[in-house]
Amino acid sequence: MKRIAIYPGSFDPITNGHLDILHRALKLFDEVIILVAVAAEKKTLFTLAERVEMIKEATKNIPNVHVDATKGLTIRYAKDQGAVALVRGLRAVSDFEYEFKLAAGNSFVDPNIEIVFFMARSEYSFLSSSTLKELFQQGVDIAALVPRSVVTALKKKLQ
Ligand code: ADP
Repeated sequence: MKRIAIYPGSFDPITNGHLDILHRALKLFDEVIILVAVAAEKKTLFTLAERVEMIKEATKNIPNVHVDATKGLTIRYAKDQGAVALVRGLRAVSDFEYEFKLAAGNSFVDPNIEIVFFMARSEYSFLSSSTLKELFQQGVDIAALVPRSVVTALKKKLQ
């Protein structure tokens, strides 16, 4: 049976930190679905369609990756797809509390789907979508931190 994992997040926008987690997840799972979760309380710079498009562009040459979006619960989406796991990344200790609670909530809804955490690689341990946007707005060269299409998208959006 194909082992499918879901990698959910806001991806506003996708960074090389996200892509690193994706590549590592692909070593363990046959297929990874990147799921752009629509969180009503989160204000994003990019629209849902833009975020999905950027991810598709960034992953078009990586086999066994699909991109989708949901307004519903990630864990329910995972079950509907027959996924065995949710994939998340952990950066500093500060990520832990949030992820711990999120994982507990997800397990409450469906304890059969495992939540798998990957430790951020040291070179990306500071990198979040918000830090990236901040650095870009301050004129820092972000080319090493995101796929090229994201640099273009940021320029279009913010300059
Ligand atoms: P969310 O809004 O769900 O936190 P994000 O798009 O910010 O969505 O992140 C999705 C997942 O990827 C989260 O588990 C986050 O911790 C992880 N992640 C984001 N950036 C990195 C990074 N640089 N290294 C490792 N994991 C990361």
